[in-house]
Amino acid sequence: MTRSANLGFPRIGARRELKKATEAYWKGEIDATALDAAAAELRERHWTLQKEAGIDIIPSNDFSFYDQVLDMTAALGAVPPRFGHDGGSVGLDIYFAMARGTKDAPAMEMTKWFDTNYHYIVPEFHEDQRFALGTSKAVDEFKAAKALGMHTRPVLLGPVTYLALGKAKDPGLDPLSLLGRVLPVYCDLLGRLKDAGADWVQMDEPVLALDLSDAQRSALGAAYDALADTGVDIMLATYFEALRENVGVAAGLPVAGLHIDLVRAPDQLDDVCQALGPDKTLSIGVIDGRNIWRADLSACLAVVERAVAALGADRVQVAPSCSLLHTPVDLDGETRLDDELRSWMAFSKQKLVEVATLVTAIEKGKNAVAEAFAASDAAADARRKSPRIHNKAVAERLSGLAKDDFTRNSAFAERRKVQPTAMQLPPFPTTTIGSFPQTPEIRKARAAFRRGDMDTDAYETFLEQETTKTIRRQEALGLDVLVHGEFERNDMVEYFGELLEGYAFTQHGWVQSYGSRYVKPPVIFGDVSRPAPMTVRWARFAQSLTERPVKGMLTGPVTILQWSFVRDDQPRSETCKQIGLAIRDEVQDLEKAGIRMIQIDEPAFREGLPLRQSDWDAYLSWAVDCFQLAASGVSDTTQIHTHMCYSEFNDIIDSIAALDADVISIETSRSDMELLDAFVDFKYPNEIGPGVWDIHSPRVPSTQEMQALLKKAAAVIPPRHIWVNPDCGLKTRGWPEVEASLTHMVTAAKAMRTADSGT
Ligand code: GLN
Ligand code: ZN
Repeated sequence: MTRSANLGFPRIGARRELKKATEAYWKGEIDATALDAAAAELRERHWTLQKEAGIDIIPSNDFSFYDQVLDMTAALGAVPPRFGHDGGSVGLDIYFAMARGTKDAPAMEMTKWFDTNYHYIVPEFHEDQRFALGTSKAVDEFKAAKALGMHTRPVLLGPVTYLALGKAKDPGLDPLSLLGRVLPVYCDLLGRLKDAGADWVQMDEPVLALDLSDAQRSALGAAYDALADTGVDIMLATYFEALRENVGVAAGLPVAGLHIDLVRAPDQLDDVCQALGPDKTLSIGVIDGRNIWRADLSACLAVVERAVAALGADRVQVAPSCSLLHTPVDLDGETRLDDELRSWMAFSKQKLVEVATLVTAIEKGKNAVAEAFAASDAAADARRKSPRIHNKAVAERLSGLAKDDFTRNSAFAERRKVQPTAMQLPPFPTTTIGSFPQTPEIRKARAAFRRGDMDTDAYETFLEQETTKTIRRQEALGLDVLVHGEFERNDMVEYFGELLEGYAFTQHGWVQSYGSRYVKPPVIFGDVSRPAPMTVRWARFAQSLTERPVKGMLTGPVTILQWSFVRDDQPRSETCKQIGLAIRDEVQDLEKAGIRMIQIDEPAFREGLPLRQSDWDAYLSWAVDCFQLAASGVSDTTQIHTHMCYSEFNDIIDSIAALDADVISIETSRSDMELLDAFVDFKYPNEIGPGVWDIHSPRVPSTQEMQALLKKAAAVIPPRHIWVNPDCGLKTRGWPEVEASLTHMVTAAKAMRTADSGT
């Protein structure tokens, strides 16, 4: 019998119940018992929902109070020493301390989960690292489901991926060398799950979709040899990419089943079927777990049939491509989407019904679910043909683009002679990254405006007042290049999405970003275009208030793409190019309005990198093109800035240079400017603003500290190429620390000018 399976369900709740409960617990408003009760309620609701959707194999231990990697750290008792854990069981307060830090112990680091927008807590490893079972969460949740009449398949993060995601805290320590120490705890845990009645366990090993080292490959062999001895059947889950050259390794491990992602990598099915031993089950991820589109069931069924033909119905499970963690919970809650758009979408609950429908079609024939297939066919057809998707004007403009639409008129050295840095600014010019504090009053006004309690006139007057105050404050601080403050923006992508054609917004389409932080990505459903200017009004207003230059402020096409749910009916590069054109129009309108400097933020440029290095060049080439398309329609005198919130540029520095922004600001203060290395070795040709103030903390750095950072930078970058700015935007900070820090920053820049002879 072919069976339907799920790899993980979103834990947040359709109405963000988990966020509300955990934050209430953090604030001391509810106690641990109440928090546990809220979590148990959610788990039960989600198990029941999956059962009702018709899923045969339902996961447990996919729930998490914060993050599934941190759950594994707790389960393995791998609490870093600074949290003062005495061994033994890892309680909720230590768990949250690791995630969020305490007065005395900084939080563990957080980083992106593969190429998603989910962030996990990075495990930390020491030379004398010990592991011992720290929680019984997996067993408890299995038993809780059992008590509700559901026999679940517990999910664990596999040992090799767990170690690969961690960071060695002692020099020379290779996390993989800890495998021998961690495996006994995994075996212990599997044994306990077996005692509790579990027969199958899902082990997530997404590293199998990455470029593996030889050491990782042999670690996988050693790990699963050891785990096989427990007698538990393991479903080894891979996702986010094709197995490619790792197919032999994956298929050869002594496990009972293998899950593959056929949405990201549809072409791997035949190879995997061939490599798979005769007794193994194949779980095929045919429903997209990373996006909100309704599946084309007929197309999916053809894939399932191919797998069944190759392996036999008994050896096939049908599943979403990956855990549904990356998809919102339930489309039924979307009452404001129009019927047409809604009919093209599916959230987690709807996706599971799709999975179950496919299995019914295999087991009982398509006629048994004829209605579901007819509806799916009709939706797929309507979506293909809808006039809302295709905009002829956009297609024509794209096909009419020529090579020189992707480059500036002159090379940087020429442009520089006529740009603000040479013409009007002092050495070490000071500026900020764009946003100023989003105070409670600003949030209140925006909420009132959105509710309709404040009319447009009143709201705009309010925003003008805030902008005016901020311009005056920047003048008083002595900053050289000002910004308008971004008070009209809720979010740097949503703001633009709302003003672009081809975009839709959900009411409850939340997905977890990290911990209790969820995001609600806008949906790109059709060709993107810009019906009217989006920011010109605010830039012009701000510039009218001051003699000093005001930077225009835009979000770049790659970042807009990366932080949206993107249509799946054309290549992402094509959609990105359309956004690039829309931003280009805005850049040109800003120039016409007299704005001489325009910043195009690309904080998500790096995170768009494919998981496999061999795919990088293709991505970088179109990503650079899209940025250039947005940026290069201006005259030499207009100075284009860009901003990126991170500092790892070593492996992509050529592409960063190829963006050809006149000025780039980056995050560097936390690493004490070490991260400038890439720019130094490469001899980055354009101007650069290495951040001198870590805006992620409320701490006010001293003038001396910032000057020391600038001196470090000036030792390796031509001083006349250096800008002075914070690491990122200031919207999360308060005015007192902003004014104090910027005062120190301006003083530090002035001191540098006196020291610098102006070369
Ligand atoms: N201009 C934006 C701001 O200052 C940039 C934010 C970002 O890079 N994430 O808020
Ligand atoms: Zn930033």
